[in-house]
Amino acid sequence: MSMQPNCQRRPSVAVKIGGITLGGDAPIVVQSMTNTDTADAAATAKQIQQLAVAGSELVRITVDTEKAAEQVGRIRDRLDAVGCRVPLIGDFHYNGHVLLTKYPSCAEALAKYRINPGNVGFGRKRDSQFSTMIEVAIARKKPVRIGVNWGSLDPALVVRMMDENAKLPNPRSAAEITREALIESALLSAGKAEELGLSRDQIVLSCKVSGVQDLIAVYGELARRCNYALHLGLTEAGMGSKGIVASTAAMAILLQQGIGDTIRVSLTPEPGGDRSREVIVAQELLQTMGLRSFTPLVTACPGCGRTTSTVFQELAEEIQTYVRTEMPIWREQYPGVETMTLAVMGCIVNGPGESKHANIGISLPGTGETPAAPVFIDGEKVMTLRGENIAVEFKSILNDYVKSHYGTGHPTQAVSA
Ligand code: SF4
Repeated sequence: MSMQPNCQRRPSVAVKIGGITLGGDAPIVVQSMTNTDTADAAATAKQIQQLAVAGSELVRITVDTEKAAEQVGRIRDRLDAVGCRVPLIGDFHYNGHVLLTKYPSCAEALAKYRINPGNVGFGRKRDSQFSTMIEVAIARKKPVRIGVNWGSLDPALVVRMMDENAKLPNPRSAAEITREALIESALLSAGKAEELGLSRDQIVLSCKVSGVQDLIAVYGELARRCNYALHLGLTEAGMGSKGIVASTAAMAILLQQGIGDTIRVSLTPEPGGDRSREVIVAQELLQTMGLRSFTPLVTACPGCGRTTSTVFQELAEEIQTYVRTEMPIWREQYPGVETMTLAVMGCIVNGPGESKHANIGISLPGTGETPAAPVFIDGEKVMTLRGENIAVEFKSILNDYVKSHYGTGHPTQAVSA
């Protein structure tokens, strides 16, 4: 049994980024970022494609040098040639005003520009360099994310706000002022961009920090003060389970409050690890909260002393991997399949019950039980599998169910919101 989410999205102005809409009534968008050298067009295009296949709906790339800017148009061409239409976002720091004006093919190939107000220059240069980037966005009808980051907050703004705070009879803490400076930086820059002529439906804001409580406080306040579309993410979340837990803890609370129009999970990959992991975690976060559906998820029990073999764990993993592998094709051919639920359970205690709640469930035999695995389809026991080929037979049942229940001519379930 799963409950519908009891949360209402905060109203925000919708922004079009290539073929993707972000904010307004649009579903929460999953995005990711490459970690290849953008000057290496082949490697970057390959990773973008991998991220897109995993389900990233927008992909951001670093554009930090002239060599990188030169290659952006070629990366777009490579992707188009293989039918990968995912919109690209250029991540600019320090020299974006130069790269966007000197390399028109780069400015045109990108579907959105990310500008960090803390890294556009200093003093009068800061304003003119920021203006140049906004003017390119206006001329090319591109949206912009004004992406403030805790680690590169505009130092002049922080100093001014700290000085003003120090003069107050009851000064606030430095942490509070820093959080306020993040929000101010984003809102002042967005206001400046609008003054220059960028419309509100071309602006996305983010204020990323690396602490869970800070993120919740900052975005809660940012959401209260504006209706710009918001990009949500914990920056420098970290590696492995720490990164996943921290990102999930922070974002889940905000998503439950209706805050966040697009999310990125900033995981540090293990050496040689798969960059697509951050996409899968983002999808699983939204799906387990009932906010969107991307891929059928497998419910599996943790195992205990009643099941001393690893058979059910292996089957659960094999089925989840199989589903993910098939999804690029299933998504096209069998719309609605992403809402299907599966259960792989370890013994008779909760196995049949949990399996009955799934579209397809299997309850493997625990230690000492008869070596038989009942299979349940839509709550009814339909057969019992035995022997060595349970995984193959279960996949066959799964394939038959997908073909007969989803796609054209079949009763489809609710497509993701
Ligand atoms: S379903 Fe059975 S094996 Fe799985 S955790 Fe519960 S009691 Fe243990």
